[in-house]
Amino acid sequence: MSAGQLEPLNFVSGKWTPGKAAETLEVFNPATMNVLVQFAGATEQNVDEAVKAAAKAFPEWRRTPPQSRIQFLFKYKALLESHASEIAQLTTQENGKTFGEARAELQRGIENIEVACGIPVMMQGYNLEDVASGIDEMMIRQPLGVTAAITPFNFPSMIPLWFLPYAIACGNTFILKPSERVPLTARFLINLLQETGIPEGVVGMVVGGKAAVDALLHHPEVRAISFVGSTPVARYVFAEGSANGKRVQCQGGAKNHVVVMPDADLDMSAKIVSDSAFGCAGQRCLAVSVAITVGEASKPFTDKIAELASNLKVGNGLDEGVQMGPVISPASKERIEGLINTGLQGSGKLVLDGRRNNGSKERTSFLNPTILSDVESSSKLTDTEIFGPVLSMKSASDLDEAIGILSKSKFGNAASIFTSNGNSARKFRYEVAAGNIGVNIGVAAPMAYFPFSGWKDSFLGVQHGQGHDAIDFYTDKKVVIERWPKEWSRKF
Ligand code: NAD
Repeated sequence: MSAGQLEPLNFVSGKWTPGKAAETLEVFNPATMNVLVQFAGATEQNVDEAVKAAAKAFPEWRRTPPQSRIQFLFKYKALLESHASEIAQLTTQENGKTFGEARAELQRGIENIEVACGIPVMMQGYNLEDVASGIDEMMIRQPLGVTAAITPFNFPSMIPLWFLPYAIACGNTFILKPSERVPLTARFLINLLQETGIPEGVVGMVVGGKAAVDALLHHPEVRAISFVGSTPVARYVFAEGSANGKRVQCQGGAKNHVVVMPDADLDMSAKIVSDSAFGCAGQRCLAVSVAITVGEASKPFTDKIAELASNLKVGNGLDEGVQMGPVISPASKERIEGLINTGLQGSGKLVLDGRRNNGSKERTSFLNPTILSDVESSSKLTDTEIFGPVLSMKSASDLDEAIGILSKSKFGNAASIFTSNGNSARKFRYEVAAGNIGVNIGVAAPMAYFPFSGWKDSFLGVQHGQGHDAIDFYTDKKVVIERWPKEWSRKF
């Protein structure tokens, strides 16, 4: 890219077109701070063009038999696999996570394509003969029309693929609005889909911030919106989209807890919890943020996890051996350090200090793993989503007390228990109000054929992403009741 050149990042009617907003946005590598591209965001006009192209493509795409629609997805899966390293490299450059993490998220995305290839079976309805004498009734599923997904920065390839394959396999057309911080992976994904020969307009993309989102929320031809991001924006998208008559599903933020019982395998638990807290630099909606140790687990578990975390190699995610990359931006690093400081007010203590207060004025996105203990329950840190490599340790005298602590959280994305006792595991699964539960699992991420089930402030809507829920979300049910009297057959 030459200086000042603006990348066209909106995909409309099979062509890349420039954004029309006056403001120039930048995508930069958080590890090196190098600017990767500059672009102008999408305006209402850009979005309108993309929606019109998708609406135009819809009737023909809907008529394309499901069996033919999924042939494009089979080709797409093969193309994504053969370009996996290039995609992962791009993701690392614009997001900062390690190459291994970027490759792994793509794999989880591809699994959604595999599930969506089952649409000829999954989209079937049901029927019953003789609901009254000679009258039959059936439920058929039909696609909605133009659908859209608004996605966050933390999984540039996986999260678009939570939605795109199901939407188009069901016969909808689809517009992706990726995070303006990571649009390059999304562009690569769209380009590969075009290589399958999928008809023009079936998939489009617009890139921008609030203006682009608002244009989708208000456009009369957009029938359904999927959103993944922070809870305040999820609330806005849900309220605004619903008020405009759209079907909306919004996956929001999180503050995930794990409970470590004294009977757990503490070596294994510390390793898994460390991966969960510090993998992807803590920028995962399923990352553990609070570890509650029960009884005598406290000291040995804290010692073990502090040792593991202090040995993690932090650096550029493309470098060999690096286990944790930077957070998304210097602003995010500063926000996280501010939250650590609030946690240290009052009784809060540092078990491991990952702040880099070396006096340098250089702007950086790097932060090391940080562990706090004894944070006051009234602290802002306690119920704020940190979205960085920060773990708070708490202790409880028994499982009931531990469940009581985590139940106070307004979020309900995920919660895990580490134990060797089946009864404790069952009690946890039964009582905890979170949508994704792990038993001796650190990141309870549902496979593509299960719903991604956030609860409480972590989800707004009815149907979740992935699996059968995705089919319900992307189709309307139609019930047909038929009578074909015998006498009529004789007439013609
Ligand atoms: P974000 O809420 O800032 O942005 C998400 C999307 O909304 C982006 O496309 C962005 O352009 C758009 N957006 C941002 N501000 C907006 C506004 N004021 N009005 C309209 N649109 C706006 O989230 P992020 O920082 O990109 O991602 C991190 C968040 O995503 C975390 O809170 C994390 O927990 C959450 N997340 C949740 C899940 C889940 O499954 N529940 C998965 C991944 C990430």
